[in-house]
Amino acid sequence: MIFISIHAWCWGFFGHRHINYHAVFLLPPEMLIFYKQNISFITEHAVDPDKRRYAVNAEGPRHYIDLDHYGKAPYADLPRKWKDAVDRFSEDSLNQHGIGPWWVQVMMARLTNAFRGQETSKILRLSAEIGHYLADLHVPLHACSNHNGQHTNQQGIHGFWESRIPELMAEKQWDFFIGHAAYINDPLSYIWDRVVESGAAADTVLLLERALSNRFPPDQKYAYEERNGVIIRQYSSRYSLAYNDALNNMVERRMKMAIYAVACFWYTAWANAGQPSLKALSGPALNEADQKEFAEMNLSWQNGTAKGKTCD
Ligand SMILES: [Zn+2]
Repeated sequence: MIFISIHAWCWGFFGHRHINYHAVFLLPPEMLIFYKQNISFITEHAVDPDKRRYAVNAEGPRHYIDLDHYGKAPYADLPRKWKDAVDRFSEDSLNQHGIGPWWVQVMMARLTNAFRGQETSKILRLSAEIGHYLADLHVPLHACSNHNGQHTNQQGIHGFWESRIPELMAEKQWDFFIGHAAYINDPLSYIWDRVVESGAAADTVLLLERALSNRFPPDQKYAYEERNGVIIRQYSSRYSLAYNDALNNMVERRMKMAIYAVACFWYTAWANAGQPSLKALSGPALNEADQKEFAEMNLSWQNGTAKGKTCD
């Protein structure tokens, strides 16, 4: 039996790949052809932003926002626009508590520009990455300072909710027929609505696990079970299924909403760029600089420690 510790990732590598992959099928035909041709790139690079946390200091805060730092839902005192928020709290302080919803706007502008310029490699990289940030913001514990149950003696709950449960259930039991991507008039309020939902659900995520833990036989909470071909000690299947029931399928719902949001943001960026034809674009067409950057990012991810708050 092999006993190793592994990093728990935001939505896990599995979750992020799954979300980007399924988002492709919600696109209109003009986009679908191009995205399907490049689906392995879009899927594989869904996790780049997490890898970058090992190389770039500024990366960490882009993945979350501690909404509880700003009071209670609906967080009326927190300006939704970046400039207003900076005026109110200063950039340093915002960075300290996470800038996820604002960072999505930066990515959205970049993706729209890439469509305008018909820059294949940028379109693909930015599509893969905005998918990551959008997906993170659908996770309740990405909107809460007690992000891994560290203040309530529930360490491990982060990966439990966003990795263990999807890995156990997504492929076999969840269906991802979600409909079609829609145009989003106001991407800023759209993502804020999702983030506020996440923040409001964080207490439920924590309280229900606490209640389940109190009534579950302690020796059955963890078990040696298989993960990615390796046997490791983790939350047992029984405990995971019981938690999923208690949550009334919240993880599946949030994952579906994430898939939908990713497709809608891709579609909206393309529409705002004037719906350029994607027919002529081929392959990821990575240049030497791209290749070098991926290689360096992978190296620091494999060898280093993440900077700032992580999902471990
Ligand atoms: Zn992340």
